[in-house]
Amino acid sequence: MNFDVLIVGGGMVGASLACALGNGALKVGLLDRSAPAPSPEHGYDLRVSAVTLASRAFLENIGAWEGIARRRVAPVEAMHVWDRNGHGSIHFDAAEIGAPCLAYIVENRVIQAALIERLNRLTNIHYLCPVDTAELALGVDRVSVALADGRRLHARLLVGADGAESAVRRAAGIDTRSLDLDQKGIVATVTTERPHANIARQRFLDTGPLAFLPLPDPRACSIVWSADARRADELLALDDAAFGVELECAIGGALGGIESIGPRAGFPLTLAHARAYTAPRVALAGDAAHTVHPLAGQGVNLGFLDAAALAQVLLDADAAGKDIGAHAVLRRYERWRKGGNLAMVSLTGAFRYLFGNNLPGVRALRNLGLDLADSATPIRRFLMRRASGLEGDLPRLARARAH
Ligand SMILES: Cc1cc2nc3c(=O)[nH]c(=O)nc-3n(C[C@H](O)[C@H](O)[C@H](O)COP(=O)(O)OP(=O)(O)OC[C@H]3O[C@@H](n4cnc5c(N)ncnc54)[C@H](O)[C@@H]3O)c2cc1C
Repeated sequence: MNFDVLIVGGGMVGASLACALGNGALKVGLLDRSAPAPSPEHGYDLRVSAVTLASRAFLENIGAWEGIARRRVAPVEAMHVWDRNGHGSIHFDAAEIGAPCLAYIVENRVIQAALIERLNRLTNIHYLCPVDTAELALGVDRVSVALADGRRLHARLLVGADGAESAVRRAAGIDTRSLDLDQKGIVATVTTERPHANIARQRFLDTGPLAFLPLPDPRACSIVWSADARRADELLALDDAAFGVELECAIGGALGGIESIGPRAGFPLTLAHARAYTAPRVALAGDAAHTVHPLAGQGVNLGFLDAAALAQVLLDADAAGKDIGAHAVLRRYERWRKGGNLAMVSLTGAFRYLFGNNLPGVRALRNLGLDLADSATPIRRFLMRRASGLEGDLPRLARARAH
């Protein structure tokens, strides 16, 4: 089977790239080793993402937002960040940047279901799933993927959107710089005594940040509690009642008592960045290229912008009659995305140090920083626009349409 582009990895980033290349002249194959989990009918998916305004524009432009909005989505109208040790705090309000909200909280399985629904309607996209990739061969003029069932697929370009342990990255011989944070992110869905009022809350504790992200139900939140691995294991081992007491205390009682707690899971946290995003006839996108700390809620958003930029570069090159797998074409994508992503990996690492450190000088510095930023409207506005993805060199597909 011959394709123009083969994407290995049909997670949120790979599936969004396929949709972005939809209805065009390129023949695209999207491979995943596992079938997507169905969109949850009852109860919330444990994994959620804070989707920025730029990502929402991208999902809208590629025809997937309608499927998300039809299922479930919660707007974040304001955000409150504060430090357990001291007075420092900062408040962000969407009204200050003239936006209806700062971000949207969406369950990962809802995003995934909407993307798959969309790409199944695109005739130039071939979704092969579940399939096992037995061998990746990278040649000068084309790449080949041998599937475990004996089929052999060929393409002019191979995209690795296959997550943090990317097999495509390995096959291309691309190294990563990584830092094991010796932390875990605990995720769970909880209900609280007081409504969240569409406000996201993040409190910095000695052992790492704790976030309460609002869900569509006014009393339901998705929590992401990043803690040193030992502390995280202790928290995971507690029964629900004891965990609820710890959680209520950790968030400083901001939402009253914790009334119910769903299943909990812990994910090891690492910072990683690929030394290159491209190799001959190969490009990396999403977690295959970078993993950041979840405290900034940016991971999949960086991946969506990778997908939007890569799609633009490939479609422009194809329209100009260029070889989409040529080094010069792929370098354009790498130059566009690599510097900004590396800055975000480093920034979340620096925040992790600054807020995970209880030395008196560091504590005073971060409290001062939070207070100064809170009292300076231009800084607050800048931070909000940056976090919403509205600043910087946005790909065409990530720019909001005039309604
Ligand atoms: C606790 C936690 C909270 C987070 N919260 C946020 C948040 O609020 N906002 C945010 O933006 N990000 C968040 N993130 C990060 C976000 O979840 C990731 O950045 C995102 O899931 C990466 O998507 P991806 O498609 O690049 O990779 P993945 O989700 O890892 O998808 C990779 C896909 O490739 C497939 N695959 C892998 N290997 C192969 C192979 N050899 N052959 C075929 N298929 C293969 C897999 O089956 C999978 O479907 C969080 C992360 C954690 C751990």
